[in-house]
Amino acid sequence: MAAQMTDAHRRFLQVLMSHGIMEGSETRKLHRQCCEIDKVYYAHDKLDDFISTINSHLQPLFMQIRKGMSEDDGRAHYALVNLAETEITKMASDYTENELELFRKTMDLIISSENGFASSTDILNLADQLKTKKMKKKEAEQVLKVFVEDRWLSERNGEYTLHTRCIIEMEQYILSNYPDVARKCNICHSLAIQSQVCESCGIVMHLPCVRKYFRAQTEPRCPQCNDFWSCDIPGMSRTDSQSPSKTGRTEKSTRRC
Ligand SMILES: [Zn+2]
Ligand SMILES: [Zn+2]
Repeated sequence: MAAQMTDAHRRFLQVLMSHGIMEGSETRKLHRQCCEIDKVYYAHDKLDDFISTINSHLQPLFMQIRKGMSEDDGRAHYALVNLAETEITKMASDYTENELELFRKTMDLIISSENGFASSTDILNLADQLKTKKMKKKEAEQVLKVFVEDRWLSERNGEYTLHTRCIIEMEQYILSNYPDVARKCNICHSLAIQSQVCESCGIVMHLPCVRKYFRAQTEPRCPQCNDFWSCDIPGMSRTDSQSPSKTGRTEKSTRRC
C-alpha cells in the first residue's frame, strides 16, 4: 500500500513539473521547503522516500520522477519523465516534423561521435538534406536554439551534446535504438554520451566518473583490463599526479581522447 500523498508532495511535484528538471541541491531545498510550508514530517535524508511516494501515485499516469547525473559535472538531477511515450514521440506535440527529423539526425551525430558532441556546422549541413521538408540554415539555427532552451540539447562553443534532461528521458530509447554505438559507463552503469574510452578493452566511463574513480590513484589503470588509462583525467594534470616532486615535471606527452 503506497504512502499517502500530502500537500507537501503535491507542491513538490508541481514545482518539479514547472521546471522539467532540477539539480540535486535545488531539489533537496525544495523538499525541505515543501515540508515546512505544509507542516509535514521532514528528514533531510528522506528525499528518495518522499519521491517514491510521489512515484507510486504517478504510476497509473505512466509518469515517474527519475534521478540522473549531469555528464558535465557529475551532479545529480531529478526530472519528471513520461513513461507512456518512450520514443521521440515525447517531443512530437511540441515540434514540427522536419524539426523532429533535424533533432533525430543531430542525436545520430552526437551518439555516434567519439566525444559525445556534434558541431553546429555538421548539424546545419543536415538542414537541406531533410526528407520531410528542407530547412534553411538560418531556420535550423533558430530550431537548435529552441532545442537548447527546451533542454533537449546543450551547447558549448558551437558544439552540441544531449542535455541531462534528454539523457534521463531517453536513456532506454537510445540504448535500444543505437545498440552498436550507445554504451553504458563502466562505473555508474548508465548511458554514457560524453565519455572516455579505454584504448585496450573499449570500456567507457563518464568524465565525472573518471575523475572520481582515479582521484586516489597515483597511476590510473582501467577498472576492466588494468591497462594504463591513456586519456587525460579531467580536472587533473597527468604530469603532476605522476611526479609528486615539485620540479620533476615529466615531458610525457598526453593525448586528448
Ligand atoms: Zn558513469
Ligand atoms: Zn580497459
